[in-house]
Amino acid sequence: KILIGSILAAYLAMKWTAPSFHPESLKGARVLVTGASSGIGEQMAYHYARFGAQIVITARREKVLQQVSFKCLSLGAQKALYIPADMANESDPDRVVDFALEKLGGLDYLVLNHIGPTTFGMWEGDVEHTRWLMKVNFLSYIQMAWRALPSLEQSKGSLVVVSSLLGKMPNPFTLPYSSTKFALNGFFGSLYHELAMKKSNVSISICTLGLIDTDSAMDKVRGVTNIPAYPATEAALNIIITGATRQLDLYYPWFTQVITLIKDWSPSITNYFIQNSYNYIP
Ligand code: NDP
Repeated sequence: KILIGSILAAYLAMKWTAPSFHPESLKGARVLVTGASSGIGEQMAYHYARFGAQIVITARREKVLQQVSFKCLSLGAQKALYIPADMANESDPDRVVDFALEKLGGLDYLVLNHIGPTTFGMWEGDVEHTRWLMKVNFLSYIQMAWRALPSLEQSKGSLVVVSSLLGKMPNPFTLPYSSTKFALNGFFGSLYHELAMKKSNVSISICTLGLIDTDSAMDKVRGVTNIPAYPATEAALNIIITGATRQLDLYYPWFTQVITLIKDWSPSITNYFIQNSYNYIP
């Protein structure tokens, strides 16, 4: 009871002290969203559009990006441009940031969200896939962040990194993906300290998400687990608000934060639940 009481008190205190969000602050904001051709990134593009932002979106599929950008304009975006890019390619992360800086005249928000497709199943030693996924999900993030930092510094901008509960808590079936998310948390958590010590103008937000109902995620977990999935559009809005209010952390849904606390207090119980939340017969 004491444990549950303290968790609830901590959660409520956090909610009450959260800075308030002013949607008008996003009107005309210059935003680059990666992985915006589908899932949470696509939903973020639509929210930014409704707030009247100027948006650049990127992913690999040009036709889909074109459709998303048309929809953004119809929803109220001041600008909606797109640039196809493959984040496994070493020069594409810089090329995308340069495009956004040139077309928008600077950046207020860099929202790093893309992920490469990955397997869902027992680790079978595919080192090459893990190396490739590290490039897409991790190295391209740090490359884009570094390229955009001078402009974000000038605009008192924000760097928003979309991560996962699987970047804080090891789970079965997603070893390469989980490794890339742990790397992101380590890098951007450390960069947060360096920017604070340098009294930088740039805020960093690291978003820890639980299971979200995007097509790519649901295709993987269907029939394998009964963990509840939360709506992509709501996850997207929460990420945007966290960036706009310059908060370091987002936990969505809220109980992902409780899970990260419990795992350190009670590892054996947590491990039992993790291993039993997947259908697996050896
Ligand atoms: P999706 O699979 O729906 O979207 C991934 C996006 O990345 C697509 O726009 C895809 O477009 C793009 N992409 C894929 N490969 C590349 C590449 N090589 N280069 C550039 N872009 C690429 O992902 P979600 O919306 O489900 O996830 C979004 C974020 O949320 C991720 O960071 C994920 O880790 C995080 N998250 C999601 C959870 C979930 O349950 N859905 C849970 C926890 C975290 P294209 O194919 O056109 O390139």
